[in-house]
Amino acid sequence: MRLLVVEDNAELATLLAKGLSAAGLAADCVGTAQDARDALATTRYAAMVLDLGLPDEDGLVLLRELRARTDATPVLVLTARGGVRDRVTGLRSGADDYLVKPFALEELVARLQALLRRPGELLGRSLRVGNIVFDTEARQVIVADVPQLFSLREVALLEILMRRAGRVVSKKLVEDHLFGLSGEVGSNAVEVYVHRLRKQLADSGARAQIHTIRGVGYLIAEDKAP
Ligand code: CA
Repeated sequence: MRLLVVEDNAELATLLAKGLSAAGLAADCVGTAQDARDALATTRYAAMVLDLGLPDEDGLVLLRELRARTDATPVLVLTARGGVRDRVTGLRSGADDYLVKPFALEELVARLQALLRRPGELLGRSLRVGNIVFDTEARQVIVADVPQLFSLREVALLEILMRRAGRVVSKKLVEDHLFGLSGEVGSNAVEVYVHRLRKQLADSGARAQIHTIRGVGYLIAEDKAP
């Protein structure tokens, strides 16, 4: 598991890397937003520690860029700016956590570990379960190498299930994800969409199934080889 530390204060960066390594977390340290970009382009990091006051750019620009391309790498923002407004801006820009300098190294490590433990969604643009491939950027579903025409809600349903493949997704979460706060949702609306999606997947030759876990929710899993 590799972390990226973006911090221009070399002394602090070294200290962070040492502290993380003592906790069993390897870190690459860079001192500018541009170096961070280069590092992110070549390596998949489990999380990023991001200082906002960088010599070339505001760290928030980098963070917004990351989120704009739907990169969900957990980001802990590190900053000397402790004002409420800055904190809110940081979180709105897609930070997962926020630590104001000066901070205790133990706290940083503990918070990072908490971020890494989060029931993480599968990251990345392309999700795969069996022979179903979901391109989260193009919003396209491909089954057995054939692009599928699913409705928007079917695509949304498939996405939430595939992001948590092999794990149960509660019916409530599916409902919120599909219908948001858009008011009245029939009590069996989710079932209807699950039923439709199941049929579409079966018809298109998917080697994965949506299982109903009675009273809990749904999960998608690859078919076991016969
Ligand atoms: Ca700085």
